[in-house]
Amino acid sequence: MVPAIAVALLGATPEPRVATFGRWRDAGEQIIDSGIALYFPAPHSFTGEHVLELQGHGGLIVEALIERIVQLGARRARAGEFSERAFLNDKIDLAQAEAIADLIDAGSQAAARAAMRSLQGEFSQRVRATRDALTQLRVYVEAAIDFPEEEIDFLASAELRERVDHVRKLLHAVLAAARRGALLTRGMTVVIAGRPNAGKSTLLNALAGFDAAIVTPVPGTTRDLLRQKVDIGGVPVEIIDTAGLRPATEDAIEAEGMRRARDMLRQADHVLYVVDAAADPQARSYDEERDSLPPEVAVTVVLNKSDLAPAISPATSAATTGATPTATAPLRLAISAATGQGLEALRAHLAAATGHTEGLGGSFSARARHVHALEQAAGQLDAACQQLAARQGELAAFELRGAQASLGEVIGDVTSDELLGRIFGSFCIGK
Ligand code: GDP
Repeated sequence: MVPAIAVALLGATPEPRVATFGRWRDAGEQIIDSGIALYFPAPHSFTGEHVLELQGHGGLIVEALIERIVQLGARRARAGEFSERAFLNDKIDLAQAEAIADLIDAGSQAAARAAMRSLQGEFSQRVRATRDALTQLRVYVEAAIDFPEEEIDFLASAELRERVDHVRKLLHAVLAAARRGALLTRGMTVVIAGRPNAGKSTLLNALAGFDAAIVTPVPGTTRDLLRQKVDIGGVPVEIIDTAGLRPATEDAIEAEGMRRARDMLRQADHVLYVVDAAADPQARSYDEERDSLPPEVAVTVVLNKSDLAPAISPATSAATTGATPTATAPLRLAISAATGQGLEALRAHLAAATGHTEGLGGSFSARARHVHALEQAAGQLDAACQQLAARQGELAAFELRGAQASLGEVIGDVTSDELLGRIFGSFCIGK
């Protein structure tokens, strides 16, 4: 089809991989446009099929050109179809195909670089290396099952333990990296919460660098969620300002605002609980609210208005940034959203919370789907270990097979049409 279209449109098929200038004509031999044609015969193209690329003048001419090409027998690509074909023709694996979409949608430079690394296959290679080590482990275990008289010795051997440890190390390393990658790809959600008038909207504006939210001395100004995307240490972070939380309210609109705030808190990766340190230096409002916050979400208590509360100095609290906050005693950071004091320390703290360190390099993009499959593989490996400890070779082999299949899901060794439809359907048109 492509060579025939090339002949009809350009007069001849261009020499492969050579930029060829030409005039492109319609059915009546009228020139539609002129430009550069590039021909990539199968299988040496992105999709593995014949590809003809035309570089013309853009604008309305493109539509005329497309119409002509459709007349000659082509059709418009579906969303993600180029990547899907590349995947189906084994040019890229599924994680690489997903990285193309993530590259297009990247919300920060770091996310784009990470997606590029995944597209180059770094993530897939780590998954494959883990799978290969797992395959060797499986061979070992299955061999033991085939020689029942020696099975017990095999299953108790130090070599087997070493192999299991090796696979576990690889798997947990790639899982940790995928979790960071998923955060980098989808961005981190930071929710600002606290009592009315604590300075939440002022903090949102300070982190955004401009006035995204209305700030007034009147409590209860923010009735709904306010979202702002910011780049913190190279990670796309969505900061969400919420209605002030109070133990009770008679106002129906305020109550609805609080309900939305609490919903949002459950979806947060990190909560900044803002306290008016001038009015509440001991952060009692946080203590009162603590039990109603979702226990699984990390919280940092932000002692705001430190300019009005000289006893709380940003310098002393910033020095505690390195401390590990716990669920019972989260980290406290003093800032002044109004003067900007302590904001850099807060930004650095949030950047550390993303787990992404630009300097380390090697971050790759990943998705929740990958993290889930890797977690499943880790669970199956643990189950296999228990079976091995109980000298249940058959059951261990079964779990190891499952772990291998879970790893295969990441790179698309085993896929369903439904999964492929979901992945490629989310691409922008034609990519
Ligand atoms: P929210 O209800 O928690 O969103 O609070 P706002 O951001 O609307 O702030 C409430 C009031 O506190 C406003 O008058 C702000 O100007 C003031 N405010 C906020 N942060 C600071 C701060 O760090 N220092 C001082 N002095 N005033 C602040």
